[in-house]
Amino acid sequence: MNPNNYQVLVVEDDAQILKFICYLLDNEGLSYITAGSGQAALSKLVSEYIDVVLLDLGLPDFDGMDVIKKVREWSDMPIIVVSARDQDKEKAAALDSGADDYLTKPFSATELLARIRVALRHISKQGNQAARAVLSVGDLQLDLEKRLVYLDGAELHMTPMEYNLLALLFKNVGKVLTTASIIKEIWGVGYGTDTQALRALMAGLRRKIEKNPAKPRYILTETGIGYRLVDE
Ligand code: CA
Repeated sequence: MNPNNYQVLVVEDDAQILKFICYLLDNEGLSYITAGSGQAALSKLVSEYIDVVLLDLGLPDFDGMDVIKKVREWSDMPIIVVSARDQDKEKAAALDSGADDYLTKPFSATELLARIRVALRHISKQGNQAARAVLSVGDLQLDLEKRLVYLDGAELHMTPMEYNLLALLFKNVGKVLTTASIIKEIWGVGYGTDTQALRALMAGLRRKIEKNPAKPRYILTETGIGYRLVDE
């Protein structure tokens, strides 16, 4: 499967099934990270480089369908639904929302691995992983795979939070993100609406990427709403 270059995100809240899937991926030599909830999945998707998502639909916090819709706002990465829901209309809804494949529980090891192989083939056909992983706006570049940020070709030192915030904006380039949605993505549910922390984080980020942080060129403030990374 030409493994090691690929990273799978396994979104599953059932410990037994998660263990089984991880065992299979280990055997196949695929690296993976795991998430036990929709919120954890979205955080990992923002902060980590991921090639393929294996997604359970029945998650403790919100429906896996919402994860599909979210991811499709900024990425074409393959999403394979692995769900106990076996109704045709549920499969159709998941596929219509942007899932690439749908596997019903209980599934066989052979079948799951075959589906993953198909997804990975699809990625390598799109070719050029490196190009896919580097996003840029003006002179600002973000390398999702290496988690590095460059300005005018020079590497910038970012704290993990600053990187996560910038990656989130890059993945939604041109779109206004509300303050509440950014806080939820970066700090997680339950953090409330502490805009002070976000303002401080944003100020630090701007000092690094903006030549004149008082008159930002890249990240614009949409007064009373949130922030937007300009789409050039
Ligand atoms: Ca579940």
